[in-house]
Amino acid sequence: MGWPVRHSLSPVIHGHWIRRHGLDAAYVPLPVAPGNLAAALEALPVLGFSGCNLTVPHKIEAMALLDRVSATARAIGAVNTLFVREGRLEGDNTDAAGFAAGLAEQAPGWAAGEGPFVVLGAGGAARAVAAALRGESSAEIVVVNRTRRRADELAARFPPSRAAAWDDLPELLAQAALLVNATTLGMEGEPPLDVDLAPLPDRAAVADIVYAPLETGILRAARARGLAAVDGLSMLLHQAVPGFDGWFGVRPEVDRELREAVLEAISAR
Ligand code: NAP
Repeated sequence: MGWPVRHSLSPVIHGHWIRRHGLDAAYVPLPVAPGNLAAALEALPVLGFSGCNLTVPHKIEAMALLDRVSATARAIGAVNTLFVREGRLEGDNTDAAGFAAGLAEQAPGWAAGEGPFVVLGAGGAARAVAAALRGESSAEIVVVNRTRRRADELAARFPPSRAAAWDDLPELLAQAALLVNATTLGMEGEPPLDVDLAPLPDRAAVADIVYAPLETGILRAARARGLAAVDGLSMLLHQAVPGFDGWFGVRPEVDRELREAVLEAISAR
């Protein structure tokens, strides 16, 4: 459910897995206008749905409309995956698990315990990244965001964390175990992300949650420096796993065929 929802890649991901597992099932985009969310959610069990995903602008409003909201979704402040269980609506947020799984897949052995972690951005996606990092380690998270107030708010949610200024990045990166771009910078149609990776230690990893383009400027720069680089597609694909598992009772694989199917859909947009 989203508004608009046509751009969503989730039907490609779940459609791929439904075919792979030969399920008699369908995953369909549901355009739900703002203001119609409560009625649409109420209809889900009546219509026989196993659940749904929620995207913009419904992720936050849905929190107040569900019978149960997971601790992770409450920490992030948004629901992206919903399960119908015995007629009741249960909400979760799988973006944090998706980010953590992407790190494990593309930067195995990254120095999780060593911190600090530098997160650029303080929007919804940055909250999911911070929740994932807090789940991995108790090391400090340093939030750097254009609007300082939002960085302060995010840091307060996931202690031990603090906000810092863009100008401090060279010093911050010199100590960092991980740099994550969770802003829209570097996305197609947005300004580039201009950060010099030179100060990062050799063991640091770099993750970008932007997935269009797949190979963003900082990922290219990270690979050129020999650092582990984690792309945004890994988070997008892995965040879909718990939903599919909960709806259909099959834990699906994030493999090369799925990546290729989604990349093809992105390039066809
Ligand atoms: P959001 O809530 O709108 O937050 C946008 C963030 O980008 C804010 O921190 C904002 O800073 C910053 N920003 C925007 N324009 C900027 C600029 N010109 N200079 C500096 N900072 C700027 O968006 P979101 O939902 O967190 O999404 C952020 C990105 O993550 C998007 O590219 C989205 O596609 C991607 N994403 C990827 C996945 C995945 O699975 N890979 C999942 C979710 C989101 P201010 O606070 O100062 O406005």
